[in-house]
Amino acid sequence: MDLIDRYGRTVRDLRISVTDRCNFRCTYCMPEEGLNWLDRAEVLTFEEIERVARICVERFGVDSLRLTGGEPTVRAHLPQLIERLAALRLEDGRKPDIALTTNGATLRNIATELRNAGLDRINVSLDSLQRERFLAMTRRDELDNVLAGIQEAVTTGFDKVKVNTVVERGTNDDEILDLATFGRDLGVEVRFIEFMPLDATNEWERQKVVTQEEIVAAIGEVYPLEQIPARGAAPADRWRYLDGHGTVGVIPSVSQPFCGDCDRVRITSDGQFRTCLFATNEFDLRAIMRNGGTDDEMAQVIIDAVATKWAGHQINQVNFIRPNRSMSQIGG
Ligand code: SAM
Ligand code: SF4
Repeated sequence: MDLIDRYGRTVRDLRISVTDRCNFRCTYCMPEEGLNWLDRAEVLTFEEIERVARICVERFGVDSLRLTGGEPTVRAHLPQLIERLAALRLEDGRKPDIALTTNGATLRNIATELRNAGLDRINVSLDSLQRERFLAMTRRDELDNVLAGIQEAVTTGFDKVKVNTVVERGTNDDEILDLATFGRDLGVEVRFIEFMPLDATNEWERQKVVTQEEIVAAIGEVYPLEQIPARGAAPADRWRYLDGHGTVGVIPSVSQPFCGDCDRVRITSDGQFRTCLFATNEFDLRAIMRNGGTDDEMAQVIIDAVATKWAGHQINQVNFIRPNRSMSQIGG
């Protein structure tokens, strides 16, 4: 059966956070000292993650599984989890699409292993091409490793390699064009993300958000663009370079929320099921699993949770309430 919420949206995509830990400390995500990491015993095992994914794929037709975190590559034996997920099958025999979002710091060494395990797509985060600025934004001097990781991912032949760039006014907005050029030259789609109020240090301000309109204008001035119609359920609006050098995307979560088409649900690394990044309620699948619950019980909780999915987040309303977990604790 399909999982359809009260607003008629069908769930197709499960974002799985495999860890809340990270080897970076991006200023828009985490404080310098890190966060209070979960104890190992609180984090779902691979068996538990696979069980949640299996129910979503086999019973509810979820055909897209995205691994994230925290930094998913710091979770030991990640390829083993990918292998398990890649072995799942939808009712019609299809394999779910498996993707990973990573900061790319160790990708150079593990891209082939991830690909061989069954990973289809990869998104690598990259906010600056300038070493000092990269260091300031991530608090890690890892630019060269990330660039090498992106190159390795391209060489490895994933179905798609994308670059994610969070744009913050006054921090890296003067690099929009350089990053777009980087994507064009390498043949990867850069997706510029509007800064969202999910940073752990509560420093988000509306004036720091560089809007989709501004981003597209900055690129279009130099590289003429044509919008690709029909985003569907994907979060990015996309444009084609008129000179044939590929595509570029923007995820306009703040200026043009795309909640009306959202097909996503999430499971945190400690097994809490969420229907939105900004949701203020969670459903405890880990407790059911660890108390001997059945797949039917879990499936019912998932159905009940999806029934609560709201029409959309309220970032633009005065009554917006920040979720009590930040991006890395939810799984971005
Ligand atoms: N560690 C991995 C990475 O950085 O790609 C995966 C997890 S990270 C939370 C997922 C994505 O969320 C990254 O592309 C990151 O840049 C983005 N992100 C983190 N905090 C954000 C914020 N406050 N606003 C917008 N995007 C954010
Ligand atoms: Fe780590 Fe990703 Fe958050 Fe940066 S955005 S601190 S890499 S989880």
